[in-house]
Amino acid sequence: MSSRSVDRARLDPRLTERLGELTDLGHTGHVLAWDQQVMMPAAGGPARGEALATISRLHHDRLVAPELGALLDEAAVAEPLVARAIRRDHDVARRVPGELTAQMSRAGSDGYAAWLQAREANDFAVFEPALRRNIELVRRYSECFPEAEHPYDPLLDRYEPGTTAAQVTALFQRLREGLVPLMSQIAMQPARQAFTGDFPVAAQREIGLEIVQSMGFDPEAWRLDDAVHPFAASPARCDIRVTSRFDDHSLTGLFALMHEVGHGLYEHGVDPALERTTLDSGVSLGVHESQSRLWENLVGRSPEFWTHWLPRMRDRFPLTLRDVDLDGFIRAINIVRPTLIRVEADEVSYALHVILRYELELALVEGTLDTADLPAAWAAKMKQFLGVDVPDDLSGVLQDIHWSEGVLGYFPTYAIGNVLAAQLWRAAHADIPELAAEISRGELGALRVWLREKIHRHGRLLSPPELIEQAVGGPLDPAPMLEHLRTKYGALYGL
Ligand code: ZN
Repeated sequence: MSSRSVDRARLDPRLTERLGELTDLGHTGHVLAWDQQVMMPAAGGPARGEALATISRLHHDRLVAPELGALLDEAAVAEPLVARAIRRDHDVARRVPGELTAQMSRAGSDGYAAWLQAREANDFAVFEPALRRNIELVRRYSECFPEAEHPYDPLLDRYEPGTTAAQVTALFQRLREGLVPLMSQIAMQPARQAFTGDFPVAAQREIGLEIVQSMGFDPEAWRLDDAVHPFAASPARCDIRVTSRFDDHSLTGLFALMHEVGHGLYEHGVDPALERTTLDSGVSLGVHESQSRLWENLVGRSPEFWTHWLPRMRDRFPLTLRDVDLDGFIRAINIVRPTLIRVEADEVSYALHVILRYELELALVEGTLDTADLPAAWAAKMKQFLGVDVPDDLSGVLQDIHWSEGVLGYFPTYAIGNVLAAQLWRAAHADIPELAAEISRGELGALRVWLREKIHRHGRLLSPPELIEQAVGGPLDPAPMLEHLRTKYGALYGL
């Protein structure tokens, strides 16, 4: 399977015009959503909500149009892969009644409001009825796909097309079996110290820009702005917007920036032949997250990377880093400890937070767990996976926004990204024997080019399982990630 042969000239001009319109509506939605989080004054929210809903309705109407279906039938001979990928979007959109989509969207906004109130009161009971309604609706969504083996499959398919609950369950089983004992071994070691001292924001932003320019951030086609919750938005291949949030007392903003630039490099690296076909973006959330995590963790927390960058950091932050050597720096940016909060979790415990949510989601969708029993089930799994007690709903079941908006099936993609990142990292080192030496010299070009060739350029043309197969020579496999973590943290913590 290859995207090399894609030639838009072989498509009916009526089809390319329709695909161009769909691309433009998507582009508009991305710009409006980016602006909402970065530029818009707070009072603009309600009007922006209307504008986004209109764009999304227009996009949906054009996507389900029977004329598009007929043109895709014709295109199946000239450009089979293009036709197949867009046919899939068209079919999925047609299966779900507009009335159900509208109910889900309304229940999502109601759920978000109830979640905010429940957080205010630190009381899950305030949110429970709204969550119950969201679960009911996602189960109805699943029923639109009666051929699915498991009711969770159609939910997962929205974010990770072609992957099933059975596959995720098997993958996570192996991850759990590796991570839980590693985590408890590390938790028995004495706690490690984070940096003492400051990292002034202005200097972090400057060196952050130097670092991401070495990754491939090009001011001609990219922007960097501040946002409360860092994210990346890509209206087009040459219009990539990343955000970060720097903090004087830690380097988390710097790692968040590398993470978001990893997402941006994916969208920027799509084959130009796919532009305006709607296939010029990332194929799934899991594959997307493999790109961000690879740059953030496998590159950004490695001794090779800091061999080049630590002396430059010392120039910027002499007061804090004057007496910190490479080993000390690497220990300080790789502290592992069990935590209650997913977004604060380290490289080892992160996937356990995800597996916990996945297992609970699965039980909610299957109907074997009642929403009223969720906080207790949450607490039991936290104890089992991470050995910690959950003191209240806010630091437990109310911490994530996803369920409030009726988003189920999303969480697994975070851990799929970590698993795939380690597989790609291993494959890249096999293909580029001098990679570690290059990274130690601050040269990141060969890695970027390799990722572009294996992942980025394909856009949404191949399905995620096909893409993964051609990139790493097999399906998702937790072994490289577990081996990486055991080796790295075994040495750091003297296990
Ligand atoms: Zn991400």
